Amino acid sequence: MKAYTYIDRGRFGFVDKPRPVVLSPGDAIVRVTLSSICSSDLHIKHGSVPRAVPGVTVGHEMVGVVEETGSGVRGFRPGDRVAVNVETFCGECFYCRHGWVNNCTDPDGGWALGCRIDGGQAEYVRVPMADNGLTLIPDNVTDMQALFTGDILATGFWAARISEISSGDTVLIIGAGPTGLCTLQCVMLHNPRHIIVCETDARRRAFVGSRYPGVYVTGPEECRDTVMRISEHGGADRVIEVAGSDSSFRMSWELARPNAIVTVVALYDGNQTLPLPQMYGKNLTFKTGGVDGCDCEEILRLISEGRIDTTPLVTHTFPLSRIEEAYSLFESLGEGVIKIAVCPDSE
Ligand SMILES: [Zn+2]
Ligand SMILES: [Zn+2]
Repeated sequence: MKAYTYIDRGRFGFVDKPRPVVLSPGDAIVRVTLSSICSSDLHIKHGSVPRAVPGVTVGHEMVGVVEETGSGVRGFRPGDRVAVNVETFCGECFYCRHGWVNNCTDPDGGWALGCRIDGGQAEYVRVPMADNGLTLIPDNVTDMQALFTGDILATGFWAARISEISSGDTVLIIGAGPTGLCTLQCVMLHNPRHIIVCETDARRRAFVGSRYPGVYVTGPEECRDTVMRISEHGGADRVIEVAGSDSSFRMSWELARPNAIVTVVALYDGNQTLPLPQMYGKNLTFKTGGVDGCDCEEILRLISEGRIDTTPLVTHTFPLSRIEEAYSLFESLGEGVIKIAVCPDSE
């Protein structure tokens, strides 16, 4: 089968690989019915994910149908429609027992798919520890509705959860890219008093403004004024930084009120500076990413109840054979692209 592969730094391309087979009892083989391109794929391409292994099939956002299961898989059968989690985890180690599945100590634990082991920008994918790495898609949820469950939606859900949002809070979300938009929907589930979204791109600001009328939208220049005007205690009670630039990182702690929680979800290309003398007495709590993707069942339930809908994020669809074009478009941010769905060629 054709598998879109990380060849070496700066280069992805199609490689002919055998169809994956069950290697251990916990494995499932999933036929990919829809996948997507994530900015983390671009980070791999540009060499900023040191753990990524050249030769690996990329792609860690996908849904599909179970084709085959190992003898140890209890929860899934061939024919099941499933969302694949970006993270594979054992469910038994110290970290998994605490829900910190991103740090699962199993060799295949954490973000392995499409990074250290073959991922889903291909026709089939092998998912290790499938009982934890897969989630059944409810019958009333389409593949398109479920597509982001295991990665960017899991990230937004987790970011909102660990930010400990309560009803009186003003929440500032920095960045309205795909993950920021998923984060926004998940923050809304917590019903804070005010939500402010800061985004540099005018088109994305307009997207937020038109879809979420109760949300304040601002560019970075007016962000400070907006936050100070709306928040009651000299800054946002909760800040979720999803943009990933030096200035957005700085904004995240500058616009937080004293004793706020600042949740840093973004993946940066370089180190960031915390000027601790300047911040002394501000008593901030920082929480940092990556996602513990263990809430997928709840996320799919919320989708099935109509409380989360990420389908408007899908602006383009390409067949797998044209994924190179899809990457160019995604990287250039042209044509108003937000997210791209990649479908099998037969469709
Ligand atoms: Zn991702
Ligand atoms: Zn574990």
